[in-house]
Amino acid sequence: MQTPIKTVVIVGGGTAGWMTAVAMATVLRGRYKIRLVESDEIGIVGVGEATIPMIQRFNKTIGLDENEFLRETQGTFKLGIEFVNWGQVGDRYMHGFGRVGQDLWTVPFEQYWRKMRAAGKARPLEEYSITRMASKANKFLPAQTDLPNSPLGEIAYAYHFDASLYARYLRKLSEARGVLRTEGKISHATQRAADGHIDAVVLESGERVEGDLFVDCSGFRGLLIEQTLKTGYEDWTHWLPCDRALAVPCESAPVLTPYTRSTAHKAGWQWRIPLQHRIGNGHVYCSNAISDDEAAATLLANLDGKPLAEPRMIKFKTGMRSKSWNKNVVAIGLSSGFMEPLESTSIHMIQAAIQQLIDFFPDEGFSARDTEEFNAQSRFHYERIRDFIILHYHLNQRSDSEFWRGCANMAIPQTLKEKMDLYRTRGRLFRFNNELFTEVGWLQVMEGQNLATDGYHPLVDVQNEAGIAEFLEGVREVIGKCVDVMPDHAAYIAQHCKAM
Ligand code: FAD
Repeated sequence: MQTPIKTVVIVGGGTAGWMTAVAMATVLRGRYKIRLVESDEIGIVGVGEATIPMIQRFNKTIGLDENEFLRETQGTFKLGIEFVNWGQVGDRYMHGFGRVGQDLWTVPFEQYWRKMRAAGKARPLEEYSITRMASKANKFLPAQTDLPNSPLGEIAYAYHFDASLYARYLRKLSEARGVLRTEGKISHATQRAADGHIDAVVLESGERVEGDLFVDCSGFRGLLIEQTLKTGYEDWTHWLPCDRALAVPCESAPVLTPYTRSTAHKAGWQWRIPLQHRIGNGHVYCSNAISDDEAAATLLANLDGKPLAEPRMIKFKTGMRSKSWNKNVVAIGLSSGFMEPLESTSIHMIQAAIQQLIDFFPDEGFSARDTEEFNAQSRFHYERIRDFIILHYHLNQRSDSEFWRGCANMAIPQTLKEKMDLYRTRGRLFRFNNELFTEVGWLQVMEGQNLATDGYHPLVDVQNEAGIAEFLEGVREVIGKCVDVMPDHAAYIAQHCKAM
Protein backbone atom coordinates (compact mmCIF):
# COMPACT_ATOMS: atom_id res chain seq x y z
CA MET A 1 0.00 0.00 0.00
CA GLN A 2 1.19 3.52 -0.78
CA THR A 3 -0.09 7.07 -0.41
CA PRO A 4 -3.81 7.81 -0.62
CA ILE A 5 -5.29 8.88 -3.95
CA LYS A 6 -6.10 12.54 -4.29
CA THR A 7 -6.14 13.21 -8.03
CA VAL A 8 -7.41 10.99 -10.85
CA VAL A 9 -6.13 11.90 -14.33
CA ILE A 10 -7.99 10.58 -17.36
CA VAL A 11 -5.95 10.64 -20.56
CA GLY A 12 -8.22 10.91 -23.60
CA GLY A 13 -11.64 12.35 -24.32
CA GLY A 14 -13.31 9.81 -26.58
CA THR A 15 -16.21 7.60 -25.51
CA ALA A 16 -14.00 5.84 -22.95
CA GLY A 17 -12.56 9.06 -21.47
CA TRP A 18 -15.84 10.87 -21.05
CA MET A 19 -17.76 7.82 -19.84
CA THR A 20 -15.07 7.34 -17.20
CA ALA A 21 -15.10 11.03 -16.31
CA VAL A 22 -18.85 11.32 -15.86
CA ALA A 23 -19.08 8.07 -13.90
CA MET A 24 -16.20 9.00 -11.60
CA ALA A 25 -17.56 12.49 -11.05
CA THR A 26 -20.97 11.04 -10.19
CA VAL A 27 -19.83 8.22 -7.95
CA LEU A 28 -16.88 9.88 -6.21
CA ARG A 29 -18.94 13.03 -5.54
CA GLY A 30 -16.17 15.56 -5.29
CA ARG A 31 -14.03 13.49 -2.93
CA TYR A 32 -11.18 13.38 -5.45
CA LYS A 33 -9.99 15.82 -8.05
CA ILE A 34 -10.73 14.51 -11.55
CA ARG A 35 -8.86 15.88 -14.54
CA LEU A 36 -9.19 14.90 -18.20
CA VAL A 37 -6.63 15.69 -20.91
CA GLU A 38 -7.53 15.42 -24.59
CA SER A 39 -6.11 16.63 -27.84
CA ASP A 40 -8.37 18.32 -30.39
CA GLU A 41 -5.65 17.84 -32.99
CA ILE A 42 -5.64 14.04 -32.54
CA GLY A 43 -9.41 13.82 -32.11
CA ILE A 44 -11.37 10.65 -31.37
CA VAL A 45 -11.84 7.42 -33.32
CA GLY A 46 -15.40 8.60 -34.08
CA VAL A 47 -17.00 5.18 -34.57
CA GLY A 48 -18.74 3.04 -31.94
CA GLU A 49 -22.40 3.85 -32.31
CA ALA A 50 -24.28 0.68 -31.39
CA THR A 51 -24.76 -0.60 -27.85
CA ILE A 52 -26.31 -3.46 -25.86
CA PRO A 53 -28.98 -3.22 -23.14
CA MET A 54 -26.49 -3.14 -20.27
CA ILE A 55 -25.86 0.53 -21.12
CA GLN A 56 -29.11 1.34 -19.39
CA ARG A 57 -27.45 0.44 -16.10
CA PHE A 58 -24.68 2.93 -16.85
CA ASN A 59 -27.20 5.60 -17.80
CA LYS A 60 -29.01 5.04 -14.52
CA THR A 61 -25.77 5.33 -12.52
CA ILE A 62 -25.02 8.71 -14.04
CA GLY A 63 -28.67 9.82 -13.85
CA LEU A 64 -29.25 10.27 -17.58
CA ASP A 65 -32.62 11.34 -18.94
CA GLU A 66 -33.25 8.93 -21.83
CA ASN A 67 -35.16 11.31 -24.06
CA GLU A 68 -32.65 14.14 -23.61
CA PHE A 69 -29.76 11.74 -24.27
CA LEU A 70 -31.30 10.56 -27.56
CA ARG A 71 -32.16 14.12 -28.62
CA GLU A 72 -28.59 15.27 -27.94
CA THR A 73 -26.97 12.35 -29.76
CA GLN A 74 -29.41 11.89 -32.71
CA GLY A 75 -30.02 8.49 -31.15
CA THR A 76 -32.44 5.69 -31.97
CA PHE A 77 -33.55 2.50 -30.24
CA LYS A 78 -32.07 -0.92 -30.82
CA LEU A 79 -33.86 -4.23 -30.19
CA GLY A 80 -31.16 -6.51 -31.56
CA ILE A 81 -28.84 -7.25 -34.46
CA GLU A 82 -29.89 -8.76 -37.75
CA PHE A 83 -27.30 -11.08 -39.29
CA VAL A 84 -27.41 -11.56 -43.05
CA ASN A 85 -25.37 -14.18 -44.99
CA TRP A 86 -23.62 -15.52 -41.89
CA GLY A 87 -24.58 -19.23 -41.96
CA GLN A 88 -24.96 -19.54 -45.70
CA VAL A 89 -25.33 -16.80 -48.30
CA GLY A 90 -29.00 -15.79 -48.20
CA ASP A 91 -29.51 -16.76 -44.53
CA ARG A 92 -30.99 -14.14 -42.26
CA TYR A 93 -31.60 -14.23 -38.51
CA MET A 94 -31.87 -11.82 -35.64
CA HIS A 95 -30.07 -11.84 -32.32
CA GLY A 96 -32.85 -10.11 -30.40
CA PHE A 97 -32.37 -8.74 -26.89
CA GLY A 98 -34.25 -10.23 -23.97
CA ARG A 99 -35.69 -13.68 -23.67
CA VAL A 100 -37.12 -16.06 -26.20
CA GLY A 101 -40.39 -17.70 -25.17
CA GLN A 102 -41.43 -18.12 -21.58
CA ASP A 103 -40.36 -20.30 -18.70
CA LEU A 104 -42.16 -23.57 -18.98
CA TRP A 105 -42.00 -26.37 -16.43
CA THR A 106 -38.43 -27.53 -15.76
CA VAL A 107 -36.24 -27.18 -18.84
CA PRO A 108 -35.59 -24.13 -21.05
CA PHE A 109 -38.28 -23.00 -23.46
CA GLU A 110 -36.24 -23.81 -26.56
CA GLN A 111 -36.06 -27.49 -25.58
CA TYR A 112 -39.84 -27.79 -25.97
CA TRP A 113 -39.68 -25.74 -29.11
CA ARG A 114 -36.94 -27.97 -30.54
CA LYS A 115 -39.03 -31.11 -30.15
CA MET A 116 -42.12 -29.48 -31.66
CA ARG A 117 -40.19 -27.83 -34.47
CA ALA A 118 -38.70 -31.19 -35.50
CA ALA A 119 -42.25 -32.58 -35.57
CA GLY A 120 -43.38 -29.66 -37.77
CA LYS A 121 -45.59 -28.33 -34.97
CA ALA A 122 -43.81 -25.09 -34.08
CA ARG A 123 -43.10 -21.84 -35.90
CA PRO A 124 -39.55 -20.39 -36.37
CA LEU A 125 -37.89 -19.46 -33.08
CA GLU A 126 -38.09 -15.72 -33.78
CA GLU A 127 -41.87 -15.77 -33.50
CA TYR A 128 -41.56 -16.41 -29.76
CA SER A 129 -39.47 -13.27 -29.11
CA ILE A 130 -41.06 -9.84 -28.77
CA THR A 131 -37.90 -7.96 -29.70
CA ARG A 132 -37.40 -10.02 -32.85
CA MET A 133 -40.99 -9.62 -33.96
CA ALA A 134 -41.06 -5.91 -33.13
CA SER A 135 -37.84 -5.46 -35.13
CA LYS A 136 -39.41 -7.10 -38.14
CA ALA A 137 -42.36 -4.73 -37.87
CA ASN A 138 -40.11 -1.66 -37.20
CA LYS A 139 -41.90 -1.00 -33.95
CA PHE A 140 -40.64 0.19 -30.59
CA LEU A 141 -41.90 0.68 -27.06
CA PRO A 142 -39.85 0.66 -23.87
CA ALA A 143 -40.73 -1.97 -21.27
CA GLN A 144 -44.07 -1.17 -19.70
CA THR A 145 -43.29 -1.68 -16.02
CA ASP A 146 -46.99 -1.56 -15.12
CA LEU A 147 -47.49 -4.76 -17.18
CA PRO A 148 -45.08 -7.15 -15.46
CA ASN A 149 -46.81 -10.30 -16.75
CA SER A 150 -46.94 -9.22 -20.38
CA PRO A 151 -44.15 -9.40 -22.99
CA LEU A 152 -44.64 -5.60 -23.13
CA GLY A 153 -43.30 -5.46 -19.60
CA GLU A 154 -39.98 -7.01 -20.51
CA ILE A 155 -38.80 -5.40 -23.73
CA ALA A 156 -35.00 -5.27 -23.55
CA TYR A 157 -33.39 -2.59 -25.67
CA ALA A 158 -30.28 -0.54 -26.26
CA TYR A 159 -29.39 2.50 -28.39
CA HIS A 160 -27.66 3.69 -31.50
CA PHE A 161 -26.07 7.14 -31.24
CA ASP A 162 -23.64 9.48 -32.94
CA ALA A 163 -20.26 8.83 -31.27
CA SER A 164 -19.01 12.42 -31.58
CA LEU A 165 -22.23 13.85 -30.16
CA TYR A 166 -22.12 11.28 -27.36
CA ALA A 167 -18.62 12.36 -26.29
CA ARG A 168 -19.72 16.00 -26.45
CA TYR A 169 -22.83 15.30 -24.38
CA LEU A 170 -20.92 13.38 -21.71
CA ARG A 171 -18.34 16.14 -21.60
CA LYS A 172 -21.06 18.68 -20.81
CA LEU A 173 -22.35 16.49 -17.96
CA SER A 174 -18.83 15.80 -16.64
CA GLU A 175 -17.77 19.43 -16.58
CA ALA A 176 -21.01 20.37 -14.82
CA ARG A 177 -20.08 17.76 -12.18
CA GLY A 178 -16.64 19.20 -11.58
CA VAL A 179 -14.31 17.43 -14.03
CA LEU A 180 -11.47 19.73 -15.12
CA ARG A 181 -10.65 19.45 -18.81
CA THR A 182 -7.27 20.34 -20.30
CA GLU A 183 -6.86 20.54 -24.06
CA GLY A 184 -3.42 19.74 -25.42
CA LYS A 185 -1.20 17.08 -26.85
CA ILE A 186 0.71 14.95 -24.36
CA SER A 187 4.33 14.48 -25.39
CA HIS A 188 5.32 12.00 -22.67
CA ALA A 189 4.75 10.81 -19.14
CA THR A 190 7.16 10.90 -16.21
CA GLN A 191 7.62 8.05 -13.72
CA ARG A 192 8.66 7.85 -10.10
CA ALA A 193 12.12 6.35 -9.70
CA ALA A 194 11.10 4.18 -6.75
CA ASP A 195 8.36 2.06 -8.34
CA GLY A 196 7.87 3.21 -11.93
CA HIS A 197 4.43 4.65 -11.19
CA ILE A 198 3.47 7.53 -13.41
CA ASP A 199 3.47 10.85 -11.60
CA ALA A 200 2.59 13.23 -14.44
CA VAL A 201 1.79 13.59 -18.10
CA VAL A 202 3.61 16.38 -19.85
CA LEU A 203 1.96 18.38 -22.62
CA GLU A 204 3.77 19.72 -25.67
CA SER A 205 3.22 23.18 -24.15
CA GLY A 206 5.39 22.05 -21.22
CA GLU A 207 2.48 21.92 -18.77
CA ARG A 208 2.64 19.01 -16.31
CA VAL A 209 -0.59 17.37 -15.21
CA GLU A 210 0.15 15.46 -12.03
CA GLY A 211 -1.92 12.69 -10.51
CA ASP A 212 -2.02 9.62 -8.30
CA LEU A 213 -4.21 7.33 -10.44
CA PHE A 214 -4.11 7.52 -14.26
CA VAL A 215 -6.85 6.14 -16.48
CA ASP A 216 -5.49 5.56 -19.97
CA CYS A 217 -8.31 6.27 -22.43
CA SER A 218 -5.95 7.32 -25.21
CA GLY A 219 -7.32 4.84 -27.75
CA PHE A 220 -5.34 2.39 -29.86
CA ARG A 221 -2.03 4.13 -29.11
CA GLY A 222 -2.17 3.19 -25.38
CA LEU A 223 -0.12 6.22 -24.44
CA LEU A 224 0.51 5.21 -20.84
CA ILE A 225 -0.27 1.49 -20.65
CA GLU A 226 1.88 0.61 -23.67
CA GLN A 227 4.05 3.49 -24.85
CA THR A 228 5.20 4.26 -21.29
CA LEU A 229 4.73 1.03 -19.31
CA LYS A 230 5.32 -1.45 -22.17
CA THR A 231 2.66 -3.77 -20.80
CA GLY A 232 2.31 -6.00 -23.87
CA TYR A 233 -0.57 -7.07 -26.09
CA GLU A 234 -2.07 -10.48 -26.80
CA ASP A 235 -2.80 -10.86 -30.49
CA TRP A 236 -5.96 -12.78 -31.46
CA THR A 237 -5.81 -12.28 -35.22
CA HIS A 238 -5.32 -16.02 -35.78
CA TRP A 239 -8.93 -16.39 -34.65
CA LEU A 240 -10.30 -13.07 -35.81
CA PRO A 241 -8.34 -12.14 -38.93
CA CYS A 242 -10.17 -8.93 -39.88
CA ASP A 243 -7.80 -6.02 -39.36
CA ARG A 244 -9.34 -3.00 -41.07
CA ALA A 245 -12.60 -1.12 -41.30
CA LEU A 246 -13.82 1.47 -43.74
CA ALA A 247 -16.54 3.69 -42.27
CA VAL A 248 -18.91 5.95 -44.16
CA PRO A 249 -22.16 7.71 -43.24
CA CYS A 250 -25.01 7.82 -45.73
CA GLU A 251 -28.39 9.45 -46.07
CA SER A 252 -31.29 8.03 -44.07
CA ALA A 253 -33.66 5.46 -45.56
CA PRO A 254 -37.47 5.91 -45.59
CA VAL A 255 -37.93 3.39 -42.75
CA LEU A 256 -36.18 3.88 -39.39
CA THR A 257 -35.28 0.34 -38.36
CA PRO A 258 -34.89 -0.39 -34.61
CA TYR A 259 -31.91 -2.72 -35.00
CA THR A 260 -28.33 -2.92 -36.20
CA ARG A 261 -27.66 -4.96 -39.31
CA SER A 262 -24.54 -7.00 -39.98
CA THR A 263 -24.17 -8.33 -43.51
CA ALA A 264 -21.38 -10.80 -44.21
CA HIS A 265 -19.43 -10.15 -47.43
CA LYS A 266 -16.64 -12.03 -49.15
CA ALA A 267 -13.97 -11.39 -46.50
CA GLY A 268 -15.65 -9.62 -43.62
CA TRP A 269 -18.93 -7.90 -42.92
CA GLN A 270 -20.72 -4.58 -43.11
CA TRP A 271 -22.53 -2.78 -40.29
CA ARG A 272 -25.58 -0.60 -40.73
CA ILE A 273 -26.55 1.62 -37.80
CA PRO A 274 -29.61 3.84 -38.31
CA LEU A 275 -29.52 7.22 -36.54
CA GLN A 276 -32.01 10.06 -36.69
CA HIS A 277 -29.97 12.18 -39.11
CA ARG A 278 -27.98 9.55 -41.04
CA ILE A 279 -27.06 5.89 -41.28
CA GLY A 280 -23.64 4.81 -40.05
CA ASN A 281 -22.02 2.13 -42.22
CA GLY A 282 -18.74 0.32 -42.14
CA HIS A 283 -17.02 -2.63 -43.76
CA VAL A 284 -14.85 -4.70 -41.43
CA TYR A 285 -12.52 -6.82 -43.54
CA CYS A 286 -9.37 -8.89 -43.72
CA SER A 287 -6.68 -7.06 -45.68
CA ASN A 288 -4.96 -10.37 -46.45
CA ALA A 289 -8.04 -11.55 -48.30
CA ILE A 290 -9.25 -8.48 -50.22
CA SER A 291 -7.77 -5.16 -51.29
CA ASP A 292 -8.77 -1.81 -49.78
CA ASP A 293 -10.27 -0.79 -53.15
CA GLU A 294 -12.44 -3.88 -53.30
CA ALA A 295 -13.52 -3.36 -49.69
CA ALA A 296 -14.48 0.25 -50.44
CA ALA A 297 -16.37 -0.72 -53.57
CA THR A 298 -18.33 -3.39 -51.66
CA LEU A 299 -19.17 -0.90 -48.91
CA LEU A 300 -20.35 1.79 -51.31
CA ALA A 301 -22.37 -0.69 -53.35
CA ASN A 302 -24.35 -1.68 -50.26
CA LEU A 303 -25.57 1.63 -48.87
CA ASP A 304 -29.22 2.59 -48.47
CA GLY A 305 -28.65 6.22 -49.43
CA LYS A 306 -26.12 8.64 -50.91
CA PRO A 307 -22.76 8.60 -49.06
CA LEU A 308 -22.21 11.75 -47.01
CA ALA A 309 -18.40 11.55 -46.93
CA GLU A 310 -15.46 9.63 -48.29
CA PRO A 311 -14.89 6.24 -46.62
CA ARG A 312 -12.46 6.57 -43.70
CA MET A 313 -10.05 3.74 -42.88
CA ILE A 314 -9.36 2.47 -39.38
CA LYS A 315 -6.69 -0.19 -38.85
CA PHE A 316 -6.76 -2.47 -35.81
CA LYS A 317 -5.31 -5.58 -34.30
CA THR A 318 -7.79 -7.77 -32.44
CA GLY A 319 -6.63 -8.77 -28.99
CA MET A 320 -6.22 -7.57 -25.45
CA ARG A 321 -3.64 -5.79 -23.35
CA SER A 322 -1.77 -8.36 -21.21
CA LYS A 323 -2.83 -6.40 -18.14
CA SER A 324 -5.45 -3.67 -18.16
CA TRP A 325 -4.23 -2.43 -14.78
CA ASN A 326 -0.46 -1.97 -14.50
CA LYS A 327 1.14 -0.01 -11.64
CA ASN A 328 -1.04 3.11 -11.21
CA VAL A 329 -2.48 3.03 -14.74
CA VAL A 330 -5.84 1.51 -15.64
CA ALA A 331 -6.49 1.17 -19.38
CA ILE A 332 -10.11 1.62 -20.41
CA GLY A 333 -11.47 1.56 -23.96
CA LEU A 334 -9.40 0.85 -27.06
CA SER A 335 -6.17 1.15 -25.05
CA SER A 336 -7.17 -2.03 -23.17
CA GLY A 337 -7.98 -4.15 -26.22
CA PHE A 338 -10.08 -4.44 -29.32
CA MET A 339 -12.74 -6.74 -30.62
CA GLU A 340 -14.58 -5.98 -33.80
CA PRO A 341 -18.05 -4.52 -33.24
CA LEU A 342 -20.00 -7.58 -34.43
CA GLU A 343 -21.98 -7.78 -31.18
CA SER A 344 -21.49 -4.12 -30.17
CA THR A 345 -19.45 -5.02 -27.10
CA SER A 346 -16.70 -2.38 -26.83
CA ILE A 347 -18.75 0.33 -25.19
CA HIS A 348 -20.04 -2.30 -22.81
CA MET A 349 -16.44 -3.25 -22.00
CA ILE A 350 -15.76 0.40 -21.15
CA GLN A 351 -18.73 0.41 -18.83
CA ALA A 352 -17.66 -2.91 -17.26
CA ALA A 353 -14.11 -1.62 -16.69
CA ILE A 354 -15.45 1.54 -15.04
CA GLN A 355 -17.58 -0.60 -12.75
CA GLN A 356 -14.55 -2.75 -11.91
CA LEU A 357 -12.48 0.35 -11.18
CA ILE A 358 -15.20 1.51 -8.82
CA ASP A 359 -15.29 -1.95 -7.20
CA PHE A 360 -11.52 -1.90 -6.71
CA PHE A 361 -11.06 1.83 -6.25
CA PRO A 362 -7.62 2.15 -4.65
CA ASP A 363 -8.50 4.99 -2.29
CA GLU A 364 -5.70 4.38 0.26
CA GLY A 365 -3.16 3.30 -2.37
CA PHE A 366 -2.49 0.33 -4.64
CA SER A 367 -2.76 -3.33 -3.69
CA ALA A 368 -1.20 -6.07 -5.85
CA ARG A 369 -4.03 -8.41 -4.90
CA ASP A 370 -6.68 -6.00 -6.14
CA THR A 371 -4.94 -5.28 -9.42
CA GLU A 372 -4.47 -9.02 -10.04
CA GLU A 373 -8.15 -9.65 -9.42
CA PHE A 374 -9.09 -6.71 -11.65
CA ASN A 375 -6.93 -8.11 -14.44
CA ALA A 376 -8.28 -11.63 -14.00
CA GLN A 377 -11.85 -10.36 -14.26
CA SER A 378 -11.05 -8.28 -17.37
CA ARG A 379 -9.42 -11.26 -19.01
CA PHE A 380 -12.41 -13.48 -18.29
CA HIS A 381 -14.82 -11.00 -19.88
CA TYR A 382 -12.59 -10.38 -22.89
CA GLU A 383 -12.05 -14.08 -23.55
CA ARG A 384 -15.71 -15.02 -23.27
CA ILE A 385 -16.76 -12.23 -25.63
CA ARG A 386 -13.94 -13.24 -27.99
CA ASP A 387 -15.37 -16.78 -28.05
CA PHE A 388 -18.82 -15.46 -28.91
CA ILE A 389 -17.45 -13.37 -31.78
CA ILE A 390 -15.37 -16.29 -33.08
CA LEU A 391 -18.52 -18.44 -33.05
CA HIS A 392 -20.09 -16.22 -35.73
CA TYR A 393 -17.11 -16.70 -38.03
CA HIS A 394 -16.44 -20.35 -37.31
CA LEU A 395 -20.03 -21.49 -37.60
CA ASN A 396 -20.45 -20.77 -41.30
CA GLN A 397 -21.26 -23.13 -44.12
CA ARG A 398 -20.16 -20.78 -46.89
CA SER A 399 -18.01 -22.14 -49.65
CA ASP A 400 -17.81 -18.96 -51.74
CA SER A 401 -14.42 -17.72 -50.52
CA GLU A 402 -11.17 -18.91 -49.05
CA PHE A 403 -11.77 -16.55 -46.14
CA TRP A 404 -14.98 -18.26 -44.99
CA ARG A 405 -13.62 -21.77 -45.59
CA GLY A 406 -10.60 -20.84 -43.48
CA CYS A 407 -12.83 -19.60 -40.64
CA ALA A 408 -14.93 -22.76 -40.70
CA ASN A 409 -11.83 -24.96 -40.52
CA MET A 410 -9.74 -23.03 -38.02
CA ALA A 411 -8.80 -24.34 -34.58
CA ILE A 412 -10.89 -22.56 -31.97
CA PRO A 413 -10.32 -21.84 -28.28
CA GLN A 414 -11.06 -24.80 -26.01
CA THR A 415 -13.67 -22.79 -24.08
CA LEU A 416 -15.65 -22.25 -27.29
CA LYS A 417 -15.25 -25.84 -28.38
CA GLU A 418 -16.72 -27.02 -25.08
CA LYS A 419 -19.71 -24.71 -25.50
CA MET A 420 -20.37 -25.95 -29.01
CA ASP A 421 -19.96 -29.61 -27.99
CA LEU A 422 -22.44 -29.20 -25.15
CA TYR A 423 -24.93 -27.59 -27.49
CA ARG A 424 -24.56 -30.38 -30.03
CA THR A 425 -25.60 -32.87 -27.39
CA ARG A 426 -29.26 -32.07 -26.90
CA GLY A 427 -28.92 -28.30 -27.22
CA ARG A 428 -27.50 -27.74 -23.75
CA LEU A 429 -26.37 -24.20 -22.96
CA PHE A 430 -24.95 -22.82 -19.74
CA ARG A 431 -23.81 -19.37 -18.72
CA PHE A 432 -20.45 -19.51 -16.95
CA ASN A 433 -19.57 -17.24 -14.08
CA ASN A 434 -21.62 -14.23 -15.12
CA GLU A 435 -20.18 -14.02 -18.63
CA LEU A 436 -21.75 -11.25 -20.70
CA PHE A 437 -23.80 -13.26 -23.16
CA THR A 438 -26.54 -15.38 -21.68
CA GLU A 439 -27.83 -18.72 -22.91
CA VAL A 440 -30.41 -17.00 -25.08
CA GLY A 441 -27.75 -14.99 -26.94
CA TRP A 442 -25.73 -18.11 -27.71
CA LEU A 443 -28.90 -19.95 -28.67
CA GLN A 444 -29.94 -17.40 -31.26
CA VAL A 445 -26.56 -17.40 -32.98
CA MET A 446 -26.13 -21.19 -32.87
CA GLU A 447 -29.66 -21.78 -34.11
CA GLY A 448 -29.44 -18.89 -36.61
CA GLN A 449 -26.22 -20.28 -38.08
CA ASN A 450 -27.49 -23.83 -38.30
CA LEU A 451 -25.61 -25.67 -35.55
CA ALA A 452 -27.43 -28.99 -35.32
CA THR A 453 -28.23 -30.73 -32.05
CA ASP A 454 -28.67 -34.46 -31.67
CA GLY A 455 -32.06 -34.11 -30.04
CA TYR A 456 -33.61 -32.30 -27.11
CA HIS A 457 -33.65 -32.58 -23.35
CA PRO A 458 -35.20 -35.91 -22.29
CA LEU A 459 -37.45 -34.27 -19.69
CA VAL A 460 -39.41 -32.63 -22.50
CA ASP A 461 -41.06 -36.00 -23.08
CA VAL A 462 -42.49 -35.92 -19.58
CA GLN A 463 -44.99 -33.30 -20.80
CA ASN A 464 -47.98 -34.03 -22.92
CA GLU A 465 -47.35 -33.01 -26.53
CA ALA A 466 -50.71 -31.36 -27.05
CA GLY A 467 -50.12 -29.28 -23.94
CA ILE A 468 -46.74 -28.12 -25.24
CA ALA A 469 -48.24 -27.21 -28.62
CA GLU A 470 -50.98 -25.21 -26.95
CA PHE A 471 -48.49 -23.42 -24.74
CA LEU A 472 -46.18 -22.49 -27.65
CA GLU A 473 -49.07 -21.19 -29.68
CA GLY A 474 -50.32 -19.14 -26.73
CA VAL A 475 -46.90 -17.48 -26.33
CA ARG A 476 -46.73 -16.72 -30.03
CA GLU A 477 -50.21 -15.23 -30.17
CA VAL A 478 -49.67 -12.99 -27.16
CA ILE A 479 -46.41 -11.69 -28.67
CA GLY A 480 -48.17 -11.00 -31.98
CA LYS A 481 -50.90 -9.02 -30.22
CA CYS A 482 -48.34 -7.05 -28.19
CA VAL A 483 -46.40 -6.11 -31.33
CA ASP A 484 -49.66 -4.96 -32.95
CA VAL A 485 -50.19 -2.32 -30.25
CA MET A 486 -46.57 -1.06 -30.23
CA PRO A 487 -45.97 2.26 -32.01
CA ASP A 488 -43.83 2.61 -35.08
CA HIS A 489 -40.17 3.25 -34.13
CA ALA A 490 -39.97 6.56 -36.04
CA ALA A 491 -43.28 7.73 -34.56
CA TYR A 492 -42.08 6.93 -31.05
CA ILE A 493 -38.92 8.95 -31.62
CA ALA A 494 -40.83 11.85 -33.17
CA GLN A 495 -43.04 12.01 -30.11
CA HIS A 496 -40.43 11.58 -27.37
CA CYS A 497 -36.87 12.23 -28.40
CA LYS A 498 -36.60 13.89 -31.80
CA ALA A 499 -33.38 15.88 -32.24
CA MET A 500 -33.90 19.56 -33.11
P1 FAD B 1 -10.65 7.27 -28.96
O1 FAD B 1 -12.01 7.62 -29.40
O2 FAD B 1 -9.61 7.05 -30.00
O3 FAD B 1 -10.17 8.43 -27.99
C1 FAD B 1 -8.81 8.59 -27.65
C2 FAD B 1 -8.64 9.93 -26.97
O4 FAD B 1 -7.30 10.04 -26.53
C3 FAD B 1 -8.93 11.13 -27.87
O5 FAD B 1 -9.62 12.11 -27.15
C4 FAD B 1 -7.53 11.61 -28.23
O6 FAD B 1 -7.50 12.97 -28.52
C5 FAD B 1 -6.79 11.30 -26.92
N1 FAD B 1 -5.35 11.21 -27.10
C6 FAD B 1 -4.66 10.25 -27.74
N2 FAD B 1 -3.34 10.57 -27.74
C7 FAD B 1 -3.22 11.74 -27.07
C8 FAD B 1 -2.13 12.59 -26.75
N3 FAD B 1 -0.86 12.31 -27.12
N4 FAD B 1 -2.39 13.72 -26.05
C9 FAD B 1 -3.65 14.04 -25.68
N5 FAD B 1 -4.72 13.29 -25.97
C10 FAD B 1 -4.49 12.15 -26.65
N6 FAD B 1 -18.01 -0.14 -29.95
C11 FAD B 1 -19.30 -0.43 -29.67
O7 FAD B 1 -19.65 -0.64 -28.52
N7 FAD B 1 -20.21 -0.46 -30.69
C12 FAD B 1 -19.88 -0.28 -31.97
O8 FAD B 1 -20.75 -0.28 -32.84
C13 FAD B 1 -18.52 -0.07 -32.29
N8 FAD B 1 -18.10 0.07 -33.57
C14 FAD B 1 -16.77 0.22 -33.84
C15 FAD B 1 -16.30 0.20 -35.15
C16 FAD B 1 -14.93 0.29 -35.41
C17 FAD B 1 -14.43 0.22 -36.80
C18 FAD B 1 -14.03 0.46 -34.35
C19 FAD B 1 -12.56 0.63 -34.61
C20 FAD B 1 -14.48 0.49 -33.05
C21 FAD B 1 -15.83 0.34 -32.78
N9 FAD B 1 -16.30 0.29 -31.47
C22 FAD B 1 -17.61 0.02 -31.21
C23 FAD B 1 -15.39 0.57 -30.38
C24 FAD B 1 -15.58 2.02 -29.93
O9 FAD B 1 -15.42 2.88 -31.03
C25 FAD B 1 -14.61 2.38 -28.84
O10 FAD B 1 -14.68 1.45 -27.81
C26 FAD B 1 -14.91 3.73 -28.26
O11 FAD B 1 -15.07 4.70 -29.23
C27 FAD B 1 -13.85 4.14 -27.29
O12 FAD B 1 -12.74 4.69 -27.92
P2 FAD B 1 -11.65 5.36 -26.99
O13 FAD B 1 -12.30 6.45 -26.21
O14 FAD B 1 -10.96 4.30 -26.24
O15 FAD B 1 -10.61 5.95 -28.03
